[in-house]
Amino acid sequence: MPKLYLLLGGNLGDRILYLQQARESITAQVGSITQASAIYETAAWGKTDQPSFLNQVLEVATGLTPEQVLQIINQIEHDLGRERLEHWGARVIDIDILFYDDLVQQSQRLTIPHPQLHLRRFTLLPLHELAPDLQHPVLNKSITQLLEHCPDALEVKKYT
Ligand code: AMP
Repeated sequence: MPKLYLLLGGNLGDRILYLQQARESITAQVGSITQASAIYETAAWGKTDQPSFLNQVLEVATGLTPEQVLQIINQIEHDLGRERLEHWGARVIDIDILFYDDLVQQSQRLTIPHPQLHLRRFTLLPLHELAPDLQHPVLNKSITQLLEHCPDALEVKKYT
């Protein structure tokens, strides 16, 4: 079964609860979660008037195609966000596809590997916890090597 890596993130409301609800929806609709990183906290990029983010990376065994995964994670974001929209007017959960096996794909709707993943410490640190030796199929570097060379100086702390 294809191995999928997803990044979850959110900075509004009960952040831990939204991560948990996202994991439950992913298990029900995308596939079994085979590994989950710790949850990390990062200051909001650039903007200090925003609450800090919680992030988590999941490894998922899925029978779905990348397009099917994208459609479902968009739906999960929408469903969880909608509850919150009425109260806060903001989205509470973001789900990104980081890797889908060693697939390389670039289309208008979907770029895999995720084009920003090597630039963001809040993605690389939890990913490194799960898969330090995983090779980026475009950059031809391991997650350990990408983390060593990551230019992002924003502090990422373990939250749980
Ligand atoms: P955002 O919610 O701002 O992260 O953007 C979501 C949109 O980015 C999706 O609707 C996708 O069409 C597009 N996208 C492109 N590549 C990816 C990816 N690897 N993971 C998730 N969304 C992606």
